[in-house]
Amino acid sequence: MVTVIEHGWVVPVAQPPIEDGAVAFEGDRIVGVGPSAEISARFKADRTVDARGKAVLPGFINTHIHLIGGLNKGLTEDVSGNSAGVSGGLFKIAMPLHYVYAEAPDVYWLASMHALECVRTGTTTVNEMGKFEQEVAKVVRDVGLRAVMAENIRDSAVVDVRPGVVERTFVPADAEHCIEEAMRFIDDWHGKADGRITCRFGPNAPDTCAESTLVRVKELADKRGFGLHTHLAQVPGEREYVIKAQGRSPVKYLADLGYLNSSLVAAHCVFMSEEDAEMFAASGAHMSHTAYLVGKRGYFPPMKTLYANKASVALGSDWLSNDMFKIMRSAILLARQQAGSVAVIDGPKALEMATLGGARALGMERDIGSLEAGKKADLVLLDLETPWVNPIRPAQLVSNIVYNANGSDVTDVWVDGRAVVADRRATQIDGAEARRECQAAAERVWSRASALFAGT
Ligand SMILES: [Zn+2]
Repeated sequence: MVTVIEHGWVVPVAQPPIEDGAVAFEGDRIVGVGPSAEISARFKADRTVDARGKAVLPGFINTHIHLIGGLNKGLTEDVSGNSAGVSGGLFKIAMPLHYVYAEAPDVYWLASMHALECVRTGTTTVNEMGKFEQEVAKVVRDVGLRAVMAENIRDSAVVDVRPGVVERTFVPADAEHCIEEAMRFIDDWHGKADGRITCRFGPNAPDTCAESTLVRVKELADKRGFGLHTHLAQVPGEREYVIKAQGRSPVKYLADLGYLNSSLVAAHCVFMSEEDAEMFAASGAHMSHTAYLVGKRGYFPPMKTLYANKASVALGSDWLSNDMFKIMRSAILLARQQAGSVAVIDGPKALEMATLGGARALGMERDIGSLEAGKKADLVLLDLETPWVNPIRPAQLVSNIVYNANGSDVTDVWVDGRAVVADRRATQIDGAEARRECQAAAERVWSRASALFAGT
């Protein structure tokens, strides 16, 4: 069956926008992209979608997310970690909620809210890492997302990581258990959900995995042909710990262990020296720039140096928010404030990072990330008939969208040619039921964790 989305502003990303454009897809693949008149002449449509007043975009690709993270909404952002005002919500609230108090039966509905937010705001692919991935994968399957997934591997208690603490106690049995879970997850889920779920290995971070664990995971990933997904230069204390324990920075340490190459997605990359940033950029490893998240924490990566050295930069959300429009704008604001210049990044570059850059980071650029014949039909319709994007000057359409549109303007989303959002509603699971069940699950977790909220 051929579907033609016609008469929209088609934004292919790899090509200039097409006014009165069309995208044709058959099954799970795009078969044509071009002016509406040309596409309607080439393809006999079984079904047409009128996209007048809308933009047609490739689905966004979020390269670092924890789908369970909705549990933290509003709880972490304003929490101070110490008297110096270092952000503390991650250490005091988020890590304990996720790693200590959440239990497997809570996870499906908790993760459903982030998964629904992703598709409702135009994200079609996520690079997910976390605990309880067996449960998270069911949500990915049911909501209709595409996901690269990794069961988190760690052998130091992540809840002991906090600003100023430069000691780590490794528990080899923990790593062994995590590796077994990760292998089981790959066996159970790689290639599942009609091929929409694929896997990576997810060692947590250079300071929460022992060196022997990092070496072993790298060997397993190489042997089985899987990519790696980790946190790097993530939090205050990580850099100090690694320098003390290893005599070199986290970036140099991972480079020496063979991690820094194009099969790695590294999230955050905040606490890096100029030399680290140059080394990272030259290595071909991919950065997941969690601009909205780190901006809220009051710190940011050395973007000026990373861009100047042509680092591969894609965008990610981590915990919150998953609206890629917020993340694109945060990436622009952070870099410009740091550089004192608008030249460091522009709107079209931000959109490229949110789409094709994400596809490259995941090694999936032949299948997703832009609107081109032969790629997967992962498509988004964006309402342009709003006060915040009008008037529209065609030559600056992409910048207009990046600076002024919002995730809530997304009206329709297809993944693999299947409609997962129609007229602003998720089609695959009941959103009202998910909200009710998520609230109940969150209240169970918060109740168990009441000690965390003492005095608030
Ligand atoms: Zn993370």
